[in-house]
Amino acid sequence: MTNHCPKCQSHELYYSAGAPVGRMNRIYKAGIVTYVVCRECGYAEGYLLNPFDRMNVSNEWDMVKEVNFEAFEKREMLPVSMMDNRCPACGERDIRQSMITDALSIADSLVATLTHLVCLNCGHVEKYVLSEDDREAIAEHWTRTSRPPTRE
Ligand SMILES: [Zn+2]
Ligand SMILES: [Zn+2]
Repeated sequence: MTNHCPKCQSHELYYSAGAPVGRMNRIYKAGIVTYVVCRECGYAEGYLLNPFDRMNVSNEWDMVKEVNFEAFEKREMLPVSMMDNRCPACGERDIRQSMITDALSIADSLVATLTHLVCLNCGHVEKYVLSEDDREAIAEHWTRTSRPPTRE
């Protein structure tokens, strides 16, 4: 367990437990994703915190190691952010940023803009809350956490 952002090392991490559940929080046949957002750089990552959701995944989904053994063996994730045009999964520098963004619920009738970044070489995806105003609202409405977060 760490208490800093894997991209910028900031300790200002907040999680969405207790926030309204929107489209970005749902994974089909899995459950509700809780987001951890870094106030400093906006890096957003998701967690299935409910053990029952993880039991669903255990029953319904395939094992990564079995279905994708080659990718699993390849190499460790690099300590880089896609915002610096470098892929943490494959190391290549051909990152694209979505022009159309998704809405991540912060509180009632308050949403953050979620931007997806994709590596054109390997397909790895990262998500960021790029607006400083959005990140301020998150810090105001969400609870400080470490990573991985624990269920409230
Ligand atoms: Zn950060
Ligand atoms: Zn890549």
